[in-house]
Amino acid sequence: MKEKVLNILQKYYGYKSFRKGQENIITSILQGEDVLAIMPTGGGKSLCYQIPALCLDGITIVISPLISLMKDQVDSLVTMGINACYINSSLSSEDYNNILQGIINDEYKIIYVAPERLESDEFLNIIKSKEISQIAIDEAHCISQWGHDFRVSYKKIPYFINNLTTRPIVTTFTATASTEVRRDILNMLCLIEPKVFITGFDRENLYINIVKSSAKNKYLLEYVENHKTENGIIYAATRKEVEKIYEGLLKREINALKYHAGMSNEDRKINQDKFINDEVNIIVATNAFGMGIDKPDIRWVIHYNMPQSIENYYQEIGRAGRDGEKSECILLFTPGDIHTQKYLIEMGTESMARKTIQYNKLQQMTDLVYSNSCYRKSILQYFGEIGLDDCKNCSNCLNEGEVIDKTLDAQKVISCVYRMKKSYGLTMIVDVLRGSKNKKVLELEFNKLSTYGIMKDYTNEGLKNFINTLVSHGFLEIKENLGSRGSFPTISLNSQSSKVLKGEIKVQFKEVKIAKEVRNKNELFGILSDLRKTIAVKEKIAPYMVFGDSTLLSMANTYPTHEDELLNISGVGQIKYEKYGQDFISAIEQYMVDNKIDKSKLEEDKSNVLNEKEDAKQDFFEVTTDQNLYEQLKKVRGKYARIESLPHHMIMTKNTLKEISGRYPLDVEKLNDVAGLGPKKIDKYGESIIEVVNKYVEENNIDVEWKEKKKKKLILDGESRKPKEIALDLLNQGIDVKTVSNKLEVSVSSILGYICEYIKDKNELHFKFNPTIYYCDDEKELIQKSINKFGEDKLKDIKKSLPDYIKYESIRAVIIEKYIS
Ligand code: ADP
Repeated sequence: MKEKVLNILQKYYGYKSFRKGQENIITSILQGEDVLAIMPTGGGKSLCYQIPALCLDGITIVISPLISLMKDQVDSLVTMGINACYINSSLSSEDYNNILQGIINDEYKIIYVAPERLESDEFLNIIKSKEISQIAIDEAHCISQWGHDFRVSYKKIPYFINNLTTRPIVTTFTATASTEVRRDILNMLCLIEPKVFITGFDRENLYINIVKSSAKNKYLLEYVENHKTENGIIYAATRKEVEKIYEGLLKREINALKYHAGMSNEDRKINQDKFINDEVNIIVATNAFGMGIDKPDIRWVIHYNMPQSIENYYQEIGRAGRDGEKSECILLFTPGDIHTQKYLIEMGTESMARKTIQYNKLQQMTDLVYSNSCYRKSILQYFGEIGLDDCKNCSNCLNEGEVIDKTLDAQKVISCVYRMKKSYGLTMIVDVLRGSKNKKVLELEFNKLSTYGIMKDYTNEGLKNFINTLVSHGFLEIKENLGSRGSFPTISLNSQSSKVLKGEIKVQFKEVKIAKEVRNKNELFGILSDLRKTIAVKEKIAPYMVFGDSTLLSMANTYPTHEDELLNISGVGQIKYEKYGQDFISAIEQYMVDNKIDKSKLEEDKSNVLNEKEDAKQDFFEVTTDQNLYEQLKKVRGKYARIESLPHHMIMTKNTLKEISGRYPLDVEKLNDVAGLGPKKIDKYGESIIEVVNKYVEENNIDVEWKEKKKKKLILDGESRKPKEIALDLLNQGIDVKTVSNKLEVSVSSILGYICEYIKDKNELHFKFNPTIYYCDDEKELIQKSINKFGEDKLKDIKKSLPDYIKYESIRAVIIEKYIS
């Protein structure tokens, strides 16, 4: 039996192996057992009842609530060479009669029906005369009032089953796992000693990224611009928001569609079809879109607003990457989303009991967004899966973007809100912090506060974003206030705010990074997907039903030109090979001729690429500091600093000592390979260093294997940034120049040099910098004259022309000042 099942999997579907749970479910059904299978969206449920349908004698009836999905499923099956049909209200009476005739003539192995049809006596009488092997109930949660899509007609299913001459195997499938729903399915659908399978809800290929930022629109546009050739869905909470995003995309000439309940059925259908048929890649929609979409190649889903519950969220992101290929799910969150959802709950239902459930679910969703631990783990825990490891595929695990310490700026904002006494709106707080002379600010005497104008270095928009981000992270709170012109939000403090103010907690934000589209789609992929589209149009089916993206990608990267090579690719079964194989092989062969591609050379190239990658990796020379040895070396340095009355870093820099500590040079000769040590320094300090290293190595039994650096770039403790980058990052975190100079052991003058370069490039600074402390007025005048004479880039000439006591740092400070004032 196992062989037969695998054979079907290969022959019809072209898949080489089962996904998690599928094989056990199929085996159970084939042993005649009733089944409840709970699998995540995109987990591969259909195959679990379709394969038994093909193995068992008789007909399988699939009950499905989703009319649009039925047609797609049947089209897919027919494309694979399986006889299937569907019956629902979309059929004309002629088509309906033809299908009934077909059933009488035993033409179909699988029949999809809408639950309402089960009540038709005509249908029941025909079915009664046939051998029915399996009743598969898809979306079985529709039987339960506790589920989110309750359907009255599902309650008729047991009656229908009882009326059949022989009771077939009853199999039920859903992605909704709550205990109430599970209990209702088992009881109300009258399953007999069912086997329950819960395959695990994890969808490993989905990257879960939650971004707390008020710059949603900017993020969205940038992301879409970078991913516009891939299929993606943008979900928004309201129709109005959908329209706004849609217009925004069109303005930027990004081709997109919209979908929401305010549109006519016909327009919605047209847009849905265009999306499914790959005519347009992007659709902006409310949550009305998606039920009944099983397009497998959706590469990204963006939630422009936070959904109402984790169930909704997981179901909606589940629409990405059904084909198992890597896909990205991004949730853009601002606290305003909570208010929108609360409003929707209030408007959506009268029932207090229902409202309470919805509010609870909303709270759990909000907690997820604010959580600092693995998002996937938290979601799966919510669905009852415990004891999991961190996933390493969500934004919390991967910690993408650089962490920037914003405690100081957060303290400024919080202390301003505190000093303003009453709760004010965002604009007023921004005005005070940026020192606005606005009438209201002056009337309220906010210009007398010590926090007035302390965040001038932020732009208006930048500061608004920053404060909103503080709110999204829970460091401040938004309160809705009722006024004469409706409700308005104000910002107030909470218990977290006072902790930040006291320095008990740090405020660290991650810089938001947007990944560029990097999937390996080459020119041949484009040619093959054009061919796929031509075939799809001719056969009136969706392109993915010919072959999925991942199948085309494999073809485009491996150039199969023989039957066995093509059949080896996942997604190419015997039937599809017979239908489309030759067309694809011809296209691939043509491409190879046009581009002079020699397959035998490809393997060679592949291994060359691998070698190159290896080489590239080896361009770096990585060293990890041995902290204990480093401490000992610092003592040696300290001794010389005292003897020579020089600052420590002038003897040897911190990084030189760290490099030595991690490489263990055992003789003086080897010090020539260490950065920052010239012959003079080696002469002076070499012996002492080597003595300490040797002693340490011996005492600690270290097995030293010396490696030459050979001009490779040194990476110390995984730090690949240049000193300049580190310095600017620290300054951006609010750390002052002197501290940065001490920390990095880089002179103040060099740091001012970095700032100088930065400001020339960007024209603004995002940290506080006071140039006037580096010169006195007379010096400034002299420096300015010299700059005017030589030009600000001729630093050496300027320095030479000035008296000796004027330092480089003073010159740089005058240059910087010119840019910031
Ligand atoms: P759902 O559980 O949401 O109903 P589907 O049955 O629509 O999921 O399956 C999702 C996608 O996964 C489909 O494109 C299907 O062809 C594909 N799929 C299912 N099983 C396998 C498998 N064993 N190997 C590869 N792809 C599979």
